[in-house]
Amino acid sequence: MNRIENCSLIQWPDDQQSYDAAVNENPANANASSSTRRKRSLINYSKLWANGRTLKIAFIDGPDDVHKQKIIDAASQWLPYINLSFDFVDGLEGDIRIATKNNANSSMLGTDALLIHPDWQTMDLGVKPEDADFDVIVTHEFGHALGAMHEHQHPEANIPWDKPKVYAFYQNREMNPLTKEQVDKNLFQPFDTIEAIYTPYDRKSIMHHPVANTLTLGDWENPINRKISKKDKRLMKLLYPKR
Ligand SMILES: [Zn+2]
Repeated sequence: MNRIENCSLIQWPDDQQSYDAAVNENPANANASSSTRRKRSLINYSKLWANGRTLKIAFIDGPDDVHKQKIIDAASQWLPYINLSFDFVDGLEGDIRIATKNNANSSMLGTDALLIHPDWQTMDLGVKPEDADFDVIVTHEFGHALGAMHEHQHPEANIPWDKPKVYAFYQNREMNPLTKEQVDKNLFQPFDTIEAIYTPYDRKSIMHHPVANTLTLGDWENPINRKISKKDKRLMKLLYPKR
């Protein structure tokens, strides 16, 4: 369960509500289209937090201090590249609310977190502090919370997936099996948002899942990326510019 490729990036299912929440938080989210050459529909607004603000981040289920500090350290790796501050608190009140007791690693995408019931988490960090991939998974989930998509679904990725093998692999595995539709959504479906226009595809992104050679055609694989890449930094600087 704690493999990074089990991450679920969650978006609010109702686009109009999602759009309203995004624009209410940051009016610039509505204008994601005007700065690009592409024709835009409602679906292409962005879900970024208001630039310059402090995000309150709540631990809602009482992880111990060592555990909390490890989360804070991994999340804070983004801070040099964004014009946002993080304020970590205990309890239920937060723009982002973290639960640590569920067997899942997931996050709402950016301002979609605003639509979640205030008693519920917007991010699950089930990964245990002693896990070798703890830092990578936490940093990755915070990337989603800041508005970053999955890099392997970049429109220019063109990963030579062996699709029947990928479906079979995810359907038949014991832990957290995925349906064909879930595989399509989490692996194959390219995203079409503002990020793709700003920055080219980057295999080194921390937002890219590792890809096993056995699941691709020919000789194509990608290792787990453990660090925020140059492109990740560039993207965050574009999304949350320091004035
Ligand atoms: Zn993810």
